[in-house]
Parts: sequence; structure tokens; C-alpha cells
Amino acid sequence: VIAIHDLHKSYGSLEVLKGVDLLAPRGHVVSLIGSSGSGKSTLLRCCNLLEDSQQGEIRFEGEPVRWKGQGLGRHPADRAQVTRMRTNLSMVFQQFNLWSHLTILQNVMEAPVTVMKRDPKEVEIKAREYLAKVGIADKADAWPAMLSGGQQQRAAIARALCMEPRALLFDEPTSALDPELEQEVIKVIKALADEGRTMILVTHDMKLAADVSDHVIFLHLGKIEEQGPPAALFGAPKTDRLRGFLSAGS
Ligand code: ATP
Ligand code: MG
Repeated sequence: VIAIHDLHKSYGSLEVLKGVDLLAPRGHVVSLIGSSGSGKSTLLRCCNLLEDSQQGEIRFEGEPVRWKGQGLGRHPADRAQVTRMRTNLSMVFQQFNLWSHLTILQNVMEAPVTVMKRDPKEVEIKAREYLAKVGIADKADAWPAMLSGGQQQRAAIARALCMEPRALLFDEPTSALDPELEQEVIKVIKALADEGRTMILVTHDMKLAADVSDHVIFLHLGKIEEQGPPAALFGAPKTDRLRGFLSAGS
């Protein structure tokens, strides 16, 4: 369960999140939609301790996720918590940031082996399974630079899955994939939801949001403008802003 209450986040004088609440119960997929700059990525980054917040609270499985000295100058949260949160809440970024000096297989195996101290042989079996799941089993021994952007993003998804996290944070997971492989990723996301994983999914793909979500949140300028089950949100949007956003086809 990820529970966010009244989260405020500013960059200098720019208030990016203006009191956001979000509840992602175990096994549920919550999608975040909204225009560019509405704060979707920032919200995910706060969950993963990549960003500090000024006010409000994030809890994962009841445990507060926060930086030390919140609001009083920036101290990194304690390392043990950062490691725990980043393995429990594995994130797939908008930009795939693979290690360029590691092969695709090594990228996928890196965190489970070095951070989580799992048996490399077992991790390799899992890693190859996840690479196959995202359609790039044949790229295991390639270097990231040899892959297309779409293939690199799929490798990044396999890497997140290989940590077998308790929850997944996806930031535009399908934006770099061609439609066929997008379907494979959607299948993976659905299968993960069925396994009882908690997910927050940021996407510009309204069909994906409609397909996989239990709950959809429409963020506008750092505030929740409208939220509800996908059928209601996409079928009968209540606010002009959401109607405008959906009809703009973004
Ligand atoms: P997109 O759909 O384009 O990915 P988004 O909803 O994910 O947009 P964010 O990346 O969360 O939006 O950014 C929200 C706002 O915060 C934007 O106005 C952005 O310019 C600003 N912002 C994001 N990161 C920083 C940063 N490190 N420093 C200053 N401003 C930032
Ligand atoms: Mg973003």
C-alpha cells in the first residue's frame, strides 16, 4: 500500500505539487494522467526518495518515506531506507538510464546481485525470463548503445521487474515502444497486478490507463482535478479541464 497525504513539493518558488492525496492499495494499479508539467514525474520521484517534499506524508506499507530534516535543509534519508524503498518500489523512468558499461543482462542483474545480494545464478535465470517477457531475450549480451531507444526502455522495465519489488512506479513505460511491444508490456503490467503488486503508472496512453487501472487520477498544475475508476473518468469526465485534456488526444 502506498498512501500519500497532502503532499506539497516546490522547486524554489515554483510549487509543483499543491497538496496531493493518493492511495494505491496492495494489488491495485493507480494511473496518473495530466498535461506536461502537471507534476506526475515529481510525485513518483518523491515516492522513491529521489526528491524531498516540503509538506505532507508518504507511507509505504505503513512506513513513512521521508528525508531526514524534512523542510529544514536537505539531508539524504538514511541509506538503509533509501535502499529499502528503491528495492521495494522499483521505478521505470521516462528516460531509460542503463549503465553503458554493462551488457543488457548485467544491467538487469546488477541491483539484485550487488544491492540485494541474491545468488547470481538464480538472478540470471530470472533476468533472462524478464528480458524474454519484454521481447529482447536476444539482446542479453548486447551493450545499451547497440539497442534502439525502444529496446533500451524494455531493458529498463526488465531491470525493474528483476528486483521483484513490492510495488512498481512506472513513468511513461510505453512511450518508447512500438505498438506491438506496447501490448507485451501491458500484458506484463496486468500480470503483475494479478500477482498482487501495487503500481503507480504515469502515462500519456489513455488506452493503457483505461485497460490496467483500478483508479485514475487526473493531475492539473499540481492538484488533483478529477479522479475515479477508469470507466467513469474516461467515459463521463466531469470537469471541463479533463474533457479538454482527453479531447486534445494527449
Ligand atoms: P511530463 O508529462 O512532461 O513528463 P510531468 O507531469 O511529469 O510532465 P514534472 O516532471 O513532474 O511534470 O514537472 C513538474 C514541474 O516541475 C515542471 O514545471 C517542471 O519544469 C518542474 N521541475 C521538474 N523537475 C525540476 C527540477 N529538478 N528543478 C526545477 N523544476 C523542476
Ligand atoms: Mg514526467
